[in-house]
Amino acid sequence: MKFIKVMLSARLCTAFFACFFLLVFEAECENKIQVGGIFHPDNYETELAFRYAIKRVNQYSRHDGSKTIIEPIIRRVDPKDSFKAGKIACEMTSEGVAAIFGPQSVETKGIVESICEAMEIPHIQNTWIPNPPPVDRLPKMAVKFYPNQQNLSSALAALVTDYDWKTYTVLYEDDYGLVRLQEIFKKHGPKDPPISVYQLEPKKDNRPLLKKIQLSGEIHIILDCEAENILDYLRQAHEVKLLGNYQMGNAPFQTYILTSLDAHTVDLEELNSSESNITSFRMVDPNRYEFKAVINDWIQGEQRQGRNADYNETKVQLESVLMVDAVNHFGIALHALMKTEDMTPQSISCSDPSFWGGGLSLVNFLKGKPYPGLTGRVEFNETGERNRFNLDVVELHKGIYYKIGSWDTHNGFAYTRSREHLKTILFEKLRNKTFIVSSKIGEPFLKYREAADGEVLEGNDRYEGYSMDLIAGIAELLNISFRFELTPDGKYGAYNPDTKRWDGLVGQLLERKADFAICDLTITYERKRAVDFTMPFMTLGISILFTKATKEPPDLFSFLQPFSLDVWIYMATAYLGVSILLFILARMAPKEWQNPQPGTKDPSELENIWNLKNCFWLSLGSIMTAGCDLLPKATSTRMVAGMWWFFTLIMISSYTANLAAFLTNEQMDKPIKGAEDLVKQNRIKYGTLQGGSTYNFFKNSNLSTYSRMFSVMESTRPSVFVDSNTKGIERVLKGKRLYAYFMESTSIEFYTGKTCELTKIGGELDTKGYGIAMPVNSPMRTYINDAILKMQERGKLMELKKKWWVDLNGGGECDEDDKGGDDGAAELGIDNVGGVFVVLGFGCFIALILGVCEFLWNVRQVAVEDKISMGEAFKTELLFAANVWKTEKPITKNSGSTRSSRSPSGERAPSQARSMINAATSFMRLDKIF
Ligand code: ASP
Repeated sequence: MKFIKVMLSARLCTAFFACFFLLVFEAECENKIQVGGIFHPDNYETELAFRYAIKRVNQYSRHDGSKTIIEPIIRRVDPKDSFKAGKIACEMTSEGVAAIFGPQSVETKGIVESICEAMEIPHIQNTWIPNPPPVDRLPKMAVKFYPNQQNLSSALAALVTDYDWKTYTVLYEDDYGLVRLQEIFKKHGPKDPPISVYQLEPKKDNRPLLKKIQLSGEIHIILDCEAENILDYLRQAHEVKLLGNYQMGNAPFQTYILTSLDAHTVDLEELNSSESNITSFRMVDPNRYEFKAVINDWIQGEQRQGRNADYNETKVQLESVLMVDAVNHFGIALHALMKTEDMTPQSISCSDPSFWGGGLSLVNFLKGKPYPGLTGRVEFNETGERNRFNLDVVELHKGIYYKIGSWDTHNGFAYTRSREHLKTILFEKLRNKTFIVSSKIGEPFLKYREAADGEVLEGNDRYEGYSMDLIAGIAELLNISFRFELTPDGKYGAYNPDTKRWDGLVGQLLERKADFAICDLTITYERKRAVDFTMPFMTLGISILFTKATKEPPDLFSFLQPFSLDVWIYMATAYLGVSILLFILARMAPKEWQNPQPGTKDPSELENIWNLKNCFWLSLGSIMTAGCDLLPKATSTRMVAGMWWFFTLIMISSYTANLAAFLTNEQMDKPIKGAEDLVKQNRIKYGTLQGGSTYNFFKNSNLSTYSRMFSVMESTRPSVFVDSNTKGIERVLKGKRLYAYFMESTSIEFYTGKTCELTKIGGELDTKGYGIAMPVNSPMRTYINDAILKMQERGKLMELKKKWWVDLNGGGECDEDDKGGDDGAAELGIDNVGGVFVVLGFGCFIALILGVCEFLWNVRQVAVEDKISMGEAFKTELLFAANVWKTEKPITKNSGSTRSSRSPSGERAPSQARSMINAATSFMRLDKIF
């Protein structure tokens, strides 16, 4: 038994020793290739990555049966201590290393690079390097795994261009930051709007600076800093409301670009409440399977060894991953070259420098053979720069970075998110947001709502109008909520070159006090440079607002209007003059003296019919175109009569023509027909709203008419410019057709519909549109445009226009008025021709009086002749006159006065006979005249 035990223990010992020797032997058989690694104390993660990567390469080598393994020599140095770094590099070369990895700081890297260059030892770099030296001094032994600085800078510049940032603020930490951003600065031309550049102080209080930026209204910020400082800066920015907070609202429009390729490793969860957009680039995709597998393997290895590995695939720094790629790529190169040549490094002393032959082969292999690494395809140009690489564009959303696209050195940007996806993310962010809509009071766009009895109006209920309905329609389509706020100064938005600030609605947007501005805000080039506009929701042009000619009530004696009073007086004078002239000439003309009894040959006397009465009667008969039974015979009298007829022909024709016009059309005098008429006169003053788009139209116009009008307006005192459209309208109404106001056609349409006294003169001077304004690059613009388009296609915009311009604005009452007034064929009312009836009535009344007088005179004569009382004579004459069946009347013997026959016996025969003789005589006389 004892023997068995001894034998067993002897066997075990033999086996143990055999194994021990085997291991030692095998280890001794392995070809160890040393590589140096120089790290800074604060690069511990990279150092661990280096160790892990070498271990992994060696594992693979052993697995493949290779006898070549890599042995790391690791040293640490202060990042600023270049002397020590050089010393360490010399120690390493004298120990014999196939390559030196690191160090990371720019200060220490240079000396190590020079030593490697001199001894032809590959120098593997995994850190950001400022611009490489000139081509003739490029190190040939350097292989740089970190993306080329210039290309990185171009990617940042391309992102800024892609975001269409016109103005932005650059925040940087150290001078290298300015180098990283140089391509952005290069793209900024001298004519571009100014950009601001500020230096931040790491680990210090930067709030005053950040507050200043916040007050300036900046929303585009490029932050260049170490990844470890990002959270501190953003926290401070959040505190001063430079991260996702407007002063009044909380619009998500501040956008940050973080330049660090490690930005995605920073935990920004505590800033979740902020709705700012944070975008950055990353070179590794933590969700990639291979990447996850390697990093997890590494972490588990570290944990097995009891190290505190508090990082995971989302936290690992780019430099560490690049180190893993570098070691792997180096391992592949070494093993490949070992097959054909001896790659054992030589000991080279810095005091007696020589070079190692294998170094160049390794470098050439690394540069010549692309490698699929964890940071994408690893590929170098002949100078060892990694100038072909791919970056992910990532955006922070609820503490997690989402890939929104990619950028590569050849193709630039390619976005992976669909528009719908972008919309979903955006609207999710905005779910609890209340948009601030800035506006101003001005009918019909916005006015105060009248509260019903006992009703207390609050919030949006305080207002109503087109703008309110429009944004309500958009909000319904987009499922967002909004709150109306009035702009304090009640202005549209004009730039003040003295204060260099915008006022009104545009100012509100720029100061981040509002998300949208809605009213009759005209889209102009100048405003478009400061804020963004949606597509126009209404089109319009500038026109003239004026008052209609006042309709005087028709004059009773309007038939007198065709001639002025002067003409009437001249006519009356002419009538008198001509009649008297005719009388004088007739008395002088022998031909006008006629035989009173044409039957007798030698009359004892001649008679002249042209007494004054007949002269007036002839003139009157001609002027009334009634003619006359008496006509002149002498040349002179005929001449007067002829001229008078000619005069009356012209006067009556003119009167008739003018009378028709006067009676049918009221005096609609339109002193101006358009802007051209205004400029030609100076009686009617004209003006615009001060500082609005209409004012700027005239101010900036190159057309001579409009620029002349602007000079006139500017020089007119008191000023013709007004603060609001309401004041302009008031001035037009009070101006008694001596003030015209240039206003936009939509408003003119509204006010002429509301106040029938107002009218639009002429056409439109230009064409433009109203749009909804919002801060530049607002992500909402696209969606609001979509909503406006939808409303337009569904006829909602038309409906709204009709509602506020017609239905709630008198229902087109003024239009109806206009139609009636313009109709030239309208009937004439009694008001127009009443005067003629009055004249007729008056004439008839005078005739009646005369008739009565004549009657009474006849009664008196009859009473005297017949020697009867007046009463009796009156009674007899009246009864006779009333007996309408009697058509014959006897005459008195002496005077020829008529009287009623007292009896039917023929007692009055002599009178009757005489009457007949008289009648015959006068008939014969008339016959002679003709
Ligand atoms: N709607 C104009 C503006 O936006 C006002 C005007 O000038 O008539 O300025």
